[in-house]
Parts: sequence; structure tokens; C-alpha cells
Amino acid sequence: MSNESLQFIDEEYIHRLLGDTRDIPGAAFGDILDKALKLKGLTHQETAALLSTGSQEQIQRIFEAAKQVREQVYGDRIVLFAPLYISDLCVNSCLYCSFRHGRGFSRKKLSQEQIRAEVRALEAMGHKRLALEAGEDPDACPIEYVVDALKTIYSEKHKSGDIRRVNVNIAATGTEDYRKLKEAGIGTYILFQETYHRRTYETVHPAGPKSDYLYHLTALDRAMEAGLDDVGAGVLFGLYDSRFEAIALILHNEHLEREYGVGFHTISLPRIRPAQGSVFAPQYMPSDQEFLRTAAVLRLAVPFTGIIISTRESPGMRKKLIDCGISQLSGGSRAGVGGYSGSGVAAQFDVDDERPVSEIIECLIRQGNIPSFCTACYRSGRTGEYFMDMAKSGNIKNLCLPNSLITLAEYAADYGSEEIIQKAGKLIADQLDGITDESMRERTREILRRIKNGERDLYV
Ligand code: SAM
Repeated sequence: MSNESLQFIDEEYIHRLLGDTRDIPGAAFGDILDKALKLKGLTHQETAALLSTGSQEQIQRIFEAAKQVREQVYGDRIVLFAPLYISDLCVNSCLYCSFRHGRGFSRKKLSQEQIRAEVRALEAMGHKRLALEAGEDPDACPIEYVVDALKTIYSEKHKSGDIRRVNVNIAATGTEDYRKLKEAGIGTYILFQETYHRRTYETVHPAGPKSDYLYHLTALDRAMEAGLDDVGAGVLFGLYDSRFEAIALILHNEHLEREYGVGFHTISLPRIRPAQGSVFAPQYMPSDQEFLRTAAVLRLAVPFTGIIISTRESPGMRKKLIDCGISQLSGGSRAGVGGYSGSGVAAQFDVDDERPVSEIIECLIRQGNIPSFCTACYRSGRTGEYFMDMAKSGNIKNLCLPNSLITLAEYAADYGSEEIIQKAGKLIADQLDGITDESMRERTREILRRIKNGERDLYV
């Protein structure tokens, strides 16, 4: 790993930037927003400026711009997924987490048969995309176990259900392990930095392999070097100043772009939730308003990076966050091992949106959003730099809208109530006109006819 890898987070510099950029003169502010509205993204300095302004009028314009950028890049689409916890055995001591080592509760690691049961339950909900989650325990939960779990998940087909993309959120590891994940056909490798602020990081991760800040910080480099070109980042908001974290995220993104030609495929924005046995009282929890603004600024900074919100947020906040530019939501989630097929499961934290996925879908449709289960890109080899180049050229849009409509039609046919079938049908008919290319519109119509006739898993 190059020296640059170890130097891309300079804390004093970030603090200086936050100090420097208060009160942006109107013209400079306008230039930054213009650039963002042209989908050119923002540098970390520009990001810092938008995070620092205290002017209510400027903040309002940031929200409006984020909404516009979201509409231009993602239209009305929202991609849906669910987490799947396979093991809560953990050797780390993250103060905020209920899986923390030494906390006494009955730990579980699912057998392959139990994983099948979980997958069947998720497929019965209509899910096609999962995020695989596990605590860190090199002996009990080695990479071979994770790879076996992936094989089990991809092979389990229940009625019309199948899981088509599994993103993986497991602890930082070495290049060899990442290579094995690549061979197992994962979607995005996701790792939250939790906090980029080193002293805070070391305080909240006092023991275990995760206590090594630099090893954690450079994990996405190792993943890239192993060929995992779709990597996802995240920060656990509440651990440290949210503005510092947002700038650090963009610095990290710039670092990956420089070194590997492509930055984050996704950014997750979790806020700390109450967790059984947590011994951490957040001093830096961003208010709802600050959190919304952080999401909006990140949307402007990295317009083609998916932004993910989980069920840690309430239905009301999730709705507002969509307007700020988020593009992916989890739904119907169980944040504990065996939670979909079992009961009384110990969760990693409390969720704040407990609606079943069918209700979330109905609500999205009512709001005019298109719930999407699309997994076409990575299955067609559109990943990493190739994906980003296509996204930046605007070409990806011509595929995303058709694929979202196709997967919604599939969902409605296989899992929808009468009401969802009817509402989804109307939404699809209305949105078809938004496919500007005539031959693509015709091709989508043809695929929708084939879906109606019982064919599945079609995409453009
Ligand atoms: N063990 C892996 C690791 O260390 O990266 C996987 C991550 S864990 C299953 C998923 C994420 O849940 C963590 O990265 C952390 O940000 C988040 N998390 C843990 N405790 C939380 C809490 N109390 N509230 C909200 N999110 C929490």
C-alpha cells in the first residue's frame, strides 16, 4: 500500500477547513451549487463550504439542489434490500454495539440449513437483494463460512423467489479473503469506518482486531486491490462531529478515485440507535435537520454514488431523506441472527421502521416513487469504473428506469395484494413514457408482456 493511502485523512486539515469556510459569499455559493446541479460532484473543500454555511436561505437552496440532482440521476426510483445476519459471535468491543464481546447473551451462528430458512423467508417477502452481516470472529466465522453462506443464499430458490445480489458487510480483512469474496460473486463490499476521527475511533473500539484504526481505514484499498471494485463506505453518525465525518468521507472517496480510478459505489448513513447492553452515550448525535443536510450535501458531492438509509430511521425521516437524495432503503429488516424465520432474536440495535416490506412498497408507490429490486448492473458486468463512467455519461439512466419497472412488475405479480397490483400497474404505465429512447421503451413493453406471461428475471 502506498504512503498516500495512510495519509488521506489529515484531521487538523479537516478542522481548519471547517473553520475557514463559515459564511460563504453569495457568488461562491452560487458557483458551487451550479457545479453540483451540472452533476459534476464537489471537491472536499466545496463539501466543507456547504456544510459550514449558517445561512438559512443557503441551506434551503442546498435541499432544493439535492432534490433536483436526485431527480436527474435517479428519477423516482428507490432500490430496496434487506440485511441478513448470519452470526453474532464477535471478538470486538465496540461500545455502541449489542454484539460487543463479553456481553452475555446466547450467541448464534446459523448453520447452512438455518441460512436456507432465512433466505426462504426473505424470498417470500419479495426481496432480491441482501446485505450479509456478521460479527467478527476469525475462528468461529472465518471467510470460508461466509463463502459457504453466499453459495447457500444464491442457490436457494423458493417458489418465484431468488436472491440475485448479495452485498457483504463483514469486518475489515486481508486481500486474500477479499479475493475469495470476489470469487463468490458478491455485489458491493461494504465497510463502515464508524468514525474517521482517530481518538474517538480508538476510544469506542478499545479491544479486538477492530481497534486498529489504520487497518480499518485501509480495508477498502485491500478490497480494491483484490478486485472488488464496488465498495461501499459509511459512518456511524453520533460518534463524532457529523461535518468532520462527511468531509472525511469525501476525502476517502477522492483517495480511492486517485488510486483505483473509482470511488465509493455506495455510502451508508446510519445514526446510532439504542442497543441492548450498549455502554455508549452519544455526545455528537446530529439533529434531524443536521442529518438531512448532511445527506443533501453528500448527494451533491457524489451524485452517482448510491446513498443508503436503513430501518434505523423512522418512516417520517426516511420520507424526508428521499427528498434529500438517498437512493436505497432497507425494508422489513430484522437486525439479529435468525430474525426472519425465528422469534425472540437478540438484535444488534433497535430499528425505527418496523413496517413490513409490502407496506413500504405501497407507501413508496403512493408517494410517486418506484420501488426497484433491480440487480442488472453487476450481473451484466457493469461494476466499478465501468459503472461510474456509464453513470457519469448519463447512459445508465436508460437502463435503470426500464429495470426498475420490470422488477416492480415482477414483485406485483408474485407478491402484490390486489391494491399493489393495481397501483403498481398504473405507476408502470405512467412511467413508461419517461423512457425517452423509443426502441428501449418498446423493448421494456415487450419484457413486461413476458413477465405477465410468467417469465422471470428479465432485464435490459
Ligand atoms: N462486524 C462488521 C464490522 O465490524 O464492520 C460488520 C458490521 S455490523 C454487522 C454493521 C454495522 O452496524 C456496524 O458497522 C455499525 O456501524 C452498525 N451498528 C452497530 N451498533 C449500532 C447501533 N447501536 N446503532 C446503529 N448502528 C449500529
